[in-house]
Order: sequence, then C-alpha cells, then structure tokens
Amino acid sequence: MRYRLMNRPARISFISLGCPKALVDSERIITRLRAEGYELARDHKGADLAIVNTCGFLDSAQAESLAAIGTAMAENGKVIVTGCMGAEPGKITAAHPNVLAVCGPQQYESVLDAVHRAAPPQHDPYSDLIPPEGIKLTPRHYAYLKISEGCNNRCTFCIIPKLRGNLVSRPAGDVLREAERLVAAGVKELLVISQDTSAYGVDLKYAPSAWKDRELRAKFLDLARALGEFGVWVRLHYVYPYPHVDDVIPLMAEGTVLPYLDVPFQHASPTVLKRMRRPAAGEETLQRIARWREICPSLTIRSTFIVGFPGETDRDFSLLLDWLTEAQLDRVGCFRDEPVAGASANDLAAPVPEEIKEQRWHRLMRHQQAISQKRLKRKVGTRERVIIDEVGPIPGLDPRIAKGRTRGDAPQIDGTVHVASRRPLRVGEIATVKIERADAYDLHGTAVGY
Ligand code: SF4
Repeated sequence: MRYRLMNRPARISFISLGCPKALVDSERIITRLRAEGYELARDHKGADLAIVNTCGFLDSAQAESLAAIGTAMAENGKVIVTGCMGAEPGKITAAHPNVLAVCGPQQYESVLDAVHRAAPPQHDPYSDLIPPEGIKLTPRHYAYLKISEGCNNRCTFCIIPKLRGNLVSRPAGDVLREAERLVAAGVKELLVISQDTSAYGVDLKYAPSAWKDRELRAKFLDLARALGEFGVWVRLHYVYPYPHVDDVIPLMAEGTVLPYLDVPFQHASPTVLKRMRRPAAGEETLQRIARWREICPSLTIRSTFIVGFPGETDRDFSLLLDWLTEAQLDRVGCFRDEPVAGASANDLAAPVPEEIKEQRWHRLMRHQQAISQKRLKRKVGTRERVIIDEVGPIPGLDPRIAKGRTRGDAPQIDGTVHVASRRPLRVGEIATVKIERADAYDLHGTAVGY
C-alpha cells in the first residue's frame, strides 16, 4: 500500500497508445489534470496512479493495449483505462479485473472523476499552472489539430464508428482559436486530423461561427484557407478523394497550405472497394490524381492500403499493383488485413490465407519502394524548405548536423532530411536545403539559406 503525503500533489503516469487522434485526447486529459494541480510521473513505479489511453483499431492494437494495462497493473496497481478499447469494457476487465475504472473514448469527464476518486486533488486550480495552448505531447514546433470526432462512414473493416460514434465537427471559430493559441506558443506546423477530414462540417450543415470580425463556415475549403492565414505550415491528413477536395489543391499550389495530401485509398479494385464500403469508392481516382498534379506539380501524395481483404483475388491484387504504377504515389503504408472482432468485413467473403497475405504484402512493398525511390530522387539537385526536428548526431550535440522534414514529409510516418549546416540550427527553424542525395526513404543535403 502506498501513502501520499498530504499537500503533495498526486503524481500520475500516463501511457498514450494509438493514432494522433488518441494523442490529442491524451493531451486534453493531461491538460485538465495539470490545471487541477496533478503532476506527471515518468514511470508507473512511484506514481500515485496510472492512466492508459488504449487503441482498439486492430486486434494487434488491442493486444498491445492489454499488455500496456498489464504492465501498469504490475508496476503500479492503480490503473484507469480510457480510449477506443474503453468502448468494450468487458474485454479489459476480463484480462485485468482489478483496474480502477474503464472509461470510453472521449469521456474526459469520466476519466477526471475516476482520478478524483482515486487521488483527490490537493490544490485549487491555478490557471497559470498550464500554458494557454494546453499540454502538448508533441515537440514544441508542431501540433495536431483535431477538427472533428467520430465518423459517418461505415467501412466494413473498421469499428471506429461503433467506438467513437457519428461525425461531430467542431465549429470553425473554435478550431481557429485553438490554432491561434498554438501558433502564439511557437508551433510552426499544424497537422489537421480527424477520421474523415474532407467530411468536416457535414453534421453542422456547414453552419458559420464567429472568427475575429467575420463569420466562417464549417467547410473544409474555408477552414483550410483560414488556417493558411496564420503563416505556418498546415498539413492535411485523412482526406478522402471527394470531388470538393479538388478545390483545396489551388491553395496548395499558391502556398496557403502545404502541397501534401494524406489520402487513405486502401485499395484500387472496384469490387474490393465496394466490399470495403469505402467513401468515394466510385470516384475515378487516377484521373483525379492526374488533375491534382496538373494544378499543383509539387504535390506529395501519401496513402495506405490493405492487402488480403476477405475475397481479394489474384486479379484484384494485380489491379492494385497496376493502379500503383499509374498513380505514382510518393509514400505508401500497407497493412495485412486483420479480422477485427465486430467488423462486418469478417462475414463478407472467404478470408485470404495468411501466407498469401504475407506474399502480397511483400510484393506490394517491393513494387511501391521502386516508385517511391524514383519520386524521391527527383528532389536531388533541388532546394527544399526543411523544418528542423532534431539537431546533433546525438540530440543536443553538434547543432550543425540536423534532421528535418520537407513540406512533403509528415512527422513520424514519412521520411527525413539529413542536413549539414555551416551555422548551428535550431529545432523548429525552417531552412532552405540543397538536396544532394536520396536513399530508399530519406534525403541528404546542405543548408544554403536560413
Ligand atoms: S472512414 Fe472508414 S476507416 Fe475511417 S474511421 Fe470512418 S469507418 Fe473507419
């Protein structure tokens, strides 16, 4: 049994698993905790209690979440669970019956209530305990900006709508006020996220809200343009190829937002896309990509795909490879299909044997690697704006060697640029770099402008 000295603020260890959307939820919970005077602990051992924000997207993510809860139980014993897996409390309590509480996704109030019960707050809230932009788990120079929760689509492989509910968009003014606070705090790159960014505002019927001296509609295009007015990098994630997305490409060409689109295509075979019930599955995506590139030749397109979806034939798979050859995407991630419990895809068609999934995954990765490498090589000899993420071969040492990203690279998921510089570089600085060499995923170059 651990006792807390009176008047010492309770210390809480926090594990955040899953996607950037879950990370934003963690930031909100931590912000509230810090506002109430709680402190964060580096380790479970010695903390007064632990919170685990889980991911429930795939079975493997659920297994990882259960393992993280197990570690917290073993090292601390007082554990509150939240996040996507919290929508299925039975799974958690079956494996870990002694957790203190299981709260569903986005149930910030329930998490706070559970914390108050386990470790009552010792302080009155001091508003100056937290910075105005809240607590961020990302480095100071970039931040995720969540514009909506939930999703109106019903992709057959996904249980997110079951876990997180239908689309709920934030009013545009609300999003912009958060963006303004982040920029004022030194953020140089805003990463716009949601489950379906291009559907933003549909639930609000695009209702306008007050922003500064004007009214701004909750529309994808209007929001992108207004975010561009802050003068920082704005990167759009999880955009589906609906026709209205075409309107945002000119903003990329003129430099208002980054020439970067993260479009999860998932497949190219019409029959597989139909079985997946993907949004915008009927669109002529190759023609759309060609048009986007005509308008904005520097556009980087990133996407993800699933191989081995139930019923995927050799012909479907060859079609996907041919589509990738035509599409010439810059960056691609690929998953082997996993039969997530509760997903309707499991009953749609015969599962693809594991060894075939494996072979297709390797074939797709090899196929795409050649394409990505060719696209990356086109940058050799050009000058690119690069945002610096790390300095020194060992962080903190020689600041004339740094790692950064071009406008075409999102943090954590895309490549990096290795930069040599005459003068020390600072994290968050944007330098002009002459690109001298490309390898499989990364670029190498020298800073020529600051
Ligand atoms: S768009 Fe499809 S995959 Fe993405 S969250 Fe919605 S239902 Fe899931």
